Amino acid sequence: LKNKMDFDPNKAAFWKKGEQVPFIFLARALDLISNTTKRLAITEIICNVFRTVIATTPEDLLAVVYLAANKIAPAHEGVELGIGDAAIIKTLAEAYGRKEDQIKSQLKAMGDLGLVAKASRSTQRLMFKPPPLTCVKVLETFRVIAKEAGNQSMDKKRGRMKGLLVAATDCEPLYVVRLLQSKLRIGLQEATVMVALAQAAVLSEQPRVPASKLPERLELAAQTMKSVYSILPVFDKIVPILLSEGIEKLSKLCTFTPGVPVGPMLAKPTKGVSEVLDKFQDLEFTCEYKYDGERAQIHYLEDGTVEIYSRNAERNTVKFPDIVAAVSRYKKPEVSSFVLDCEVVAYDPEKEKILPFQVLSTRARKGVILSDIKVKVCIFAFDLLYINGRNLLNEQLIVRREELYTSFTEVKGEFLFATATNTREVDEMQKFLDAAINDCCEGLIVKTLKTDATYEPAKRSNNWLKLKKDYMDSVGDSLDLVPVGGYLGRGKRTGVYGAFLLACYDEDSETYQSICKIGTGFSEVVLEERSASLRQHVLEKPPPYYRYGETLGVDVWFEPVEVWEVKAADLSISPVHKAANGLVDPVKGISLRFPRLLRLREDKTPEQATSAAQVAELYRAQKITHTARDGDSDED
Ligand code: ATP
Repeated sequence: LKNKMDFDPNKAAFWKKGEQVPFIFLARALDLISNTTKRLAITEIICNVFRTVIATTPEDLLAVVYLAANKIAPAHEGVELGIGDAAIIKTLAEAYGRKEDQIKSQLKAMGDLGLVAKASRSTQRLMFKPPPLTCVKVLETFRVIAKEAGNQSMDKKRGRMKGLLVAATDCEPLYVVRLLQSKLRIGLQEATVMVALAQAAVLSEQPRVPASKLPERLELAAQTMKSVYSILPVFDKIVPILLSEGIEKLSKLCTFTPGVPVGPMLAKPTKGVSEVLDKFQDLEFTCEYKYDGERAQIHYLEDGTVEIYSRNAERNTVKFPDIVAAVSRYKKPEVSSFVLDCEVVAYDPEKEKILPFQVLSTRARKGVILSDIKVKVCIFAFDLLYINGRNLLNEQLIVRREELYTSFTEVKGEFLFATATNTREVDEMQKFLDAAINDCCEGLIVKTLKTDATYEPAKRSNNWLKLKKDYMDSVGDSLDLVPVGGYLGRGKRTGVYGAFLLACYDEDSETYQSICKIGTGFSEVVLEERSASLRQHVLEKPPPYYRYGETLGVDVWFEPVEVWEVKAADLSISPVHKAANGLVDPVKGISLRFPRLLRLREDKTPEQATSAAQVAELYRAQKITHTARDGDSDED
């Protein structure tokens, strides 16, 4: 736990220079992290781990970083372990000579498979001692597990897991299991890993950075690392360059690479045209339709390969063979490579009409065959990030848009440019907003055009403002929330859940915080679908990372698996709910009044739900006075 000035990486290592880094070194550090909630302490611990690895066995740094970030490959490669808790339970039984039923009942008591693994290991007697696990070995085995496919692949996966569990000692089984579940649950976020890695690089530099310059250098390094990772989220590229060239050259050498998706730029909510004008003041801006479909980043590489990535950097190419097939119709012949940012929208080509999002959501996700496609889609292109070998991220929108218009041709029903106007007249903007709604769009996105108008990867930027008709008279934006609990239905709703407890996600504490009960906005069909889906994820008791008021009287608890988009009348301080607890009021949380379900958000993971910080921001942005409502009891 030593602080950065006193820490000596050479003393921390208990293995010889050049030897592979033992997994127990990382596991013990993760254990230390689990005992603190302080962000600075967590950063310090993981930074010390990286420094020790750099000083002894730098070639293992990549594996250690992957494990600390709880990843086995870059997100866009879509590599998945493909194992569930049932397979882990079976393997634990085999590895530690126990019965599956024993493991299951211990799981009920302890609520965490990792803890069960650790307890099983410590009571087991060993005939012989297998060689200690190393970080490289653990990561390699995870990758092999992910690759196993075809006949008996599950048996093979279990065999590999067993190998790891048998060799694991001390607290290692706990972290092997949690890494296999892709849930470390110790408050170590990817952003912290990035900051720690940047700091470790600076602190390992020779000659050492003078103490007086250190704080500034550490801050700069952290910013560099975050921005590099938002453009090239691939540790395999970043870590070797960091080691050989140092952090200062990282931005130059790790650049935007076609084939690797950048995090999409996102917009901030506003409540009306006048707020947009207030925010942009003298800046030139443009208003575009906000289409209601699915975000897509289309990469077209020199060799003719097309890849389509989702908002979450998932490879979605197989879902849209129609888009892949149409590329040559809308790109001009002289275009040899591009990265396009766009919205894919369900479309009726005969009537030339946009169809609602719900129609798009009926399309299959996998194994889509071109001739079977019933729901046609049209691309609405709004940005161009790369063209013919040229990176456009640092160009202003006006330049990127010009390149977009000259490099592509509109094709009716397949590829259109986002409808836009550059007016700054209030009346015209209002009319344009109405026209957008008439044309089946959600509203507008207003974007700076000539100044402060570069593309900001992975950022919810002040330079993109969204304006949705339906939230001008309610909360500034809809919220994306996770159903964590259910209430058994009565009367007409017997057999389904009658209401649900929703939560936002607090990134800092990695907890789900209750925000409201919801029982309206559901058609019977939707209620049945959601009930059936959540019924498969019922938990015996609320997990330790749920925060909620005891008086909420929840009947059943669910694992965090779904994200629901919800609209509400407003937000108020609540003594019962825990959302944004401590951010607005020192002890109370925030709750939503009159929430209504809009839809299921299949493109977001529960950890991408509206964050506690965003809830606090929405609360503060409300123009109404809250004093009258403060202290409201729970409402649904
Ligand atoms: P929301 O929660 O509002 O549905 P979000 O949280 O996914 O959206 P936002 O930043 O709120 O992201 O809104 C931006 C989204 O709007 C983009 O991700 C994109 O999918 C969609 N979109 C539609 N039309 C445009 C456009 N013209 N420019 C940018 N994004 C657009």
